[in-house]
This record gives sequence, structure tokens and C-alpha cells, in this order.
Amino acid sequence: MKTRILVTGAAGFLGSHLTDRLLAEGHVVIGVDNLSTGNTDNLAHLENESRFTFESRDICEPFDVGQVDYVFNFASPASPPGYMRLGVETLRVGSLGTENALRIAERYKAGFLHASTSECYGDPLEHPQSESYWGHVNPIGPRSVYDEAKRYAEALVMAYCRYRGVNTHLVRIFNTYGPRLDPDDGRVISNFLMQGLRGEALTIYGNGQQTRSFCYVSDLIEGIMRLSRTFEHLPVNIGNPDEFTVLECAQEVIGVTNNMSGISYEPAVEDDPTRRQPDITRARELLKWEPKITLRHGLELCLPYFRSKL
Ligand code: NAD
Ligand code: UDP
Repeated sequence: MKTRILVTGAAGFLGSHLTDRLLAEGHVVIGVDNLSTGNTDNLAHLENESRFTFESRDICEPFDVGQVDYVFNFASPASPPGYMRLGVETLRVGSLGTENALRIAERYKAGFLHASTSECYGDPLEHPQSESYWGHVNPIGPRSVYDEAKRYAEALVMAYCRYRGVNTHLVRIFNTYGPRLDPDDGRVISNFLMQGLRGEALTIYGNGQQTRSFCYVSDLIEGIMRLSRTFEHLPVNIGNPDEFTVLECAQEVIGVTNNMSGISYEPAVEDDPTRRQPDITRARELLKWEPKITLRHGLELCLPYFRSKL
């Protein structure tokens, strides 16, 4: 069935891939974005797509796009340098922006899916992280503008589900990468791939023993689409459980880019989570979903895009 769908953050990395997937399934998509960390280049290929419209707006201001059947709320700075530069804006989009998007879902009796994050677990004391873990977050540290915005947003989404009857979904996204990641936004995969392709040393913050688990974008979008079709209101982790130290990740990138310049060690980042790995039991059981693309293969799939950004 063709439905009218609102995607906030549509000009971003994930929002643009989600938009492509929704259009491929025959839906009509209204994308909104204030372009604070996104880029209309990510939507340039949709210029002649009659089922897609783009509105440049800040979702922290109340807005209306007419009747919609579904809302995907993806607007928020997402890279640590991005949200630390836009601290107040990040708290505002997680709170005011999320509530404005929820009000649209309530008004039109639309489904609602919110892009939450593994960062809700903070620097976790439980490993791997399952959805039942409440997290270990410094509420006043440099990452708090993002972590607490996302935790507040989860509470708000659950409240609109419990008290206002909105059919909501919460996906806790773990580190995801792929083409259209902003090459300059400072995340580890984009930094490493650009450094690798430029023949520069890869910058590791700290000793490189901190871990992350990297999911390729097409796997993530598939999991999100499956969740959006359920009536599951509680959070679901979507991510790739293959855990790598940042040093191992650098070695993979060095392998795919044939980089000979080695590694440069930089000071550790304050409050940097030391370990992160999703427990995806719930996604496996509820959604019959698991990721398919290995880090090595995903990095290879990224090369044409990052080469085009050199
Ligand atoms: P991104 O920065 O590429 O995209 C976010 C988009 O939101 C940008 O286009 C930005 O301009 C837009 N935006 C920000 N504030 C806005 C506002 N007030 N009004 C309208 N638009 C606004 O980041 P991404 O990686 O695509 O992340 C998308 C969502 O997924 C975010 O909510 C992020 O927190 C979440 N997430 C991403 C990851 C990941 O690994 N990529 C992990 C966990 C959660
Ligand atoms: N990192 C790094 N070098 C970089 C960028 C990031 O060593 O050039 C590290 C960072 O300190 C963190 C991990 O890589 O431990 C993942 O960082 P990213 O910013 O991608 O996402 P996070 O998971 O911290 O939100």
C-alpha cells in the first residue's frame, strides 16, 4: 500500500538511505532537514522524483506537513565532534524536535519510529549491551548533550505511546557506516577511510583498545524497516555484533586502502566509551533480522564514495 511518510533528518547519512528505501517500496516521502549536519547532495539523485519533496526547516519549531501515515524521526547531530559543536541544538532537537514530530504522529494517527542510540548505555558496565541494561551515563560530561537528549527522547516516545496511544518504535542504533557519511564529521570510519585514501597516518585517540561494533548501512535500514512494521514499542538494538578494537578497525582500513603511512596516536577523548557491542537477541527473535555484511566487505563498498570526496 502506498503511504505518505515523513522523514526528519532526511538530508543526513541514515535519513537519505531510509528515504531511498521508502521510495523504492513505492511510498510518498516528505523529507525535512535544517542542514545543520546534513547535505542536500545526499538527496541530489532525487531531484526528478515526483514522490519526494524536501522542506528545509528546523523541527524544533512546530510544523505540519499535512496528513501522514508514518513518521521516521532521524533529525539530530550524530557524530561526537558534531554534537559537541552543536550542544544546545542537540538537546533541543532531542526534546522539542522529537515532541514536534510525535505531535504530528498523534494528530494523524501515524506510526512513529525514533532513531535512538547505543549511546543511551553510555560507558557500559554490562557487556554486550542488551535492551534491559539501563546504562552508565555521565549526565554533565561532554557527551551528555547527546546521551541525555537521546535518553529523554526515549522517555518522551514511551510517554506518547503510553498516554497518547501513538504506535511508537524505538531503535537503538549502534555505530553504522556507509556511503554518504560526511567525510568531515569526525566519526572513526569516515576519518580512517579519508586518511587511508589520502595516504596519511590514521589517527587513533587513546591506545586503540576501546571497542566498537560496526554495522553497514543496508543491514541497518533492513532492520529498521522490519521494526517499523511491528507493534513492538520497547527499544530494539540494531547493530552488528562483530566487535573490533579501534586498532583492529584501523588495520582493516589500512588493508582496504593499501595505506603505508601507519598510525598516529592522539590523546584519548574524555568519557569515550571503552567497550560497545550490541546483544541482538531481541532483533533476531522479533524481527528475524541479523546483519549480513562484514566490516571488510562494508569498507570495500564504501571506497567509491570516499574516493569521490578526496
Ligand atoms: P547525520 O548528521 O548525517 O544526519 C542527521 C540529520 O539531522 C542531518 O541531516 C541534520 O542536518 C539533521 N538535523 C539535525 N538537527 C535538526 C533539526 N533541528 N531540524 C531538522 N533537521 C535536523 O547523522 P546520521 O548518522 O544520519 O544519524 C541519523 C540519526 O540516527 C540521528 O538521530 C542519530 O542520533 C541516529 N544514530 C546514528 C548512528 C550512526 O552510527 N550513524 C548511531 C546511533 C544513532
Ligand atoms: N576514534 C579514533 N580516531 C578517529 C575518530 C574516532 O580513534 O579519528 C575513536 C573514538 O575515540 C571512539 C571510536 O573511534 O573510541 C568511535 O568513534 P566515533 O566518533 O566514530 O563514534 P562513537 O562510537 O564514539 O560515538
